[in-house]
Amino acid sequence: MSGSCKYIFVTGGVASSLGKGIISASLAKLLQARGFSVTIQKFDPYINIDPGTLNPYEHGECFVTDDGAETDLDLGHYERFLNVPTSQANNVTTGRVYQSVIDKERRGDFLGKTVQVIPHITDEIKRRVLLLGQTGRYDVVITEIGGTVGDIESLPFIETVRQLRWDLGSTNSLVIHLTLVPYIAAAGELKTKPTQNSVKTLLSYGVQPDVVVCRSEYDLGKSIKEKVALFCNIQPDQVIQSLDASSIYEVPLMMKKEKLDEVVLRRLELNQPQEIDLQRWETFLKRLQNPTGSIRIGIVGKYVELKDAYKSIAEAFVHAGAELECKVNISWIHSESIHEENVDDKLHSLNGVLIAPGFGNRGIEGKIIAVKYARENNLPYFGICLGMQCAVIEYARNVLGLKDAHSSEFSNSAAHKVIDLMEEQQEIEEKGGTMRLGAYTCHLEEDSKAIKAYCRKEISERHRHRYEFNNNYLSQFNAAGMKTTGKNPEKGLVEIVEIEEHPWFVGVQFHPEYKSTVLNPHPLFVGFVKAAMQRAKTLKEKQPA
Ligand code: GLN
Repeated sequence: MSGSCKYIFVTGGVASSLGKGIISASLAKLLQARGFSVTIQKFDPYINIDPGTLNPYEHGECFVTDDGAETDLDLGHYERFLNVPTSQANNVTTGRVYQSVIDKERRGDFLGKTVQVIPHITDEIKRRVLLLGQTGRYDVVITEIGGTVGDIESLPFIETVRQLRWDLGSTNSLVIHLTLVPYIAAAGELKTKPTQNSVKTLLSYGVQPDVVVCRSEYDLGKSIKEKVALFCNIQPDQVIQSLDASSIYEVPLMMKKEKLDEVVLRRLELNQPQEIDLQRWETFLKRLQNPTGSIRIGIVGKYVELKDAYKSIAEAFVHAGAELECKVNISWIHSESIHEENVDDKLHSLNGVLIAPGFGNRGIEGKIIAVKYARENNLPYFGICLGMQCAVIEYARNVLGLKDAHSSEFSNSAAHKVIDLMEEQQEIEEKGGTMRLGAYTCHLEEDSKAIKAYCRKEISERHRHRYEFNNNYLSQFNAAGMKTTGKNPEKGLVEIVEIEEHPWFVGVQFHPEYKSTVLNPHPLFVGFVKAAMQRAKTLKEKQPA
């Protein structure tokens, strides 16, 4: 049934937010570094078809794949660690599973049978687990089950794991359970009871974990590992500790030290094709941990209270910073807090400002004031999606003199809709999955900052928006000095704007942050950080000795 593919399931217990995504990505990285081809899939137990319609306050950033899937932010980690693109098949929600089953029922595919969680929902989950393995592209598929064992919502997924373990056999499949071993300060002790209970819950569903990974603030030591092993029917070397790390990118090395990959390979009877090669990863970490300088970047957005809302942007700065051996400090600035009177206070000490993607009117004027400040003060500026649209609106109002310029997203009655709804969006009313989504090609102009950064004429970047630069204003902008330096060749849509006279002012309609990885830092983030480093250097030189 499995072909030659092996399946690893990662479940979580005790508490959420223990980092199943990072453990999955770290294990995948170690297996990849040994020459195996690996992909990671995430099942999310909520009813939404995808996270595209979720408020970022609810679920953090929505990550977008090349094929236009709106997915969980853990897929971002998978791509950043593995340097391999994911797709729609890598993220499945309960909503999507039920939708497929209900569609089949309406078509009459079940031939009059009563449609039930077992076997119909579990069969559909199974189909989606095996789908990736059946492509023949992977030696190992890691499936992360969202939520915490014991939740009502994740039960069908755990039941599917139970069934699949029987179908696949014990050397073709493996279960890793991630738990928490808390430290009770008053007693001065690490406590294993929550882990024991969580494994008991998993056992009550018929699933025996092969490996228990324990998140802990302190070293577990031999005795705690032995205790967990004893209570969970495993050997002590199948108990892996996962201590807090100063960077998520250290976790693969910590897992290697704990021999997580070796236990997994042994149990799956996978022969190690070659020595582990983590040289490039280690070089990245060395650079990350030994910066020779530092800069401060302001990220202006409206969800800044929740850092996960801009996860890929924050990580792209980590990659670019390591590449340039520069520590990138981030100041999170709420767009609603910026006014004409305080903009200088808020932005003057920064070496660069990035305006984040977003939807809706809240905080827009604050963003436009920040753009004006960056443009007039030669402060390196990077606008992503809505950030690019704000740059266009600001330029129209304050340079082209089109006082009433706006995006039709925010004012349908504006005289100058310099950002307008895309033609193909005019008739669309449904919200889910209806934006311009996924990878599109973009042609770069000679002599632009973009082409200098990418060192290529044609690029492909991922999109997630409804509105676009209004081409009726194209010649006006170009003549005044805001150049449209990137265009989609098929549709003529403007993808990049730049200000020629400015040290680094770039707005992009796409989301470069989704494609930045540890091994391939994104060229625009590298270009922006370089410009900010230059700005920091100039400011320092100007300071009186
Ligand atoms: N709200 C804007 C649009 O839909 C920008 C979207 C974004 O920043 N991702 O076009």
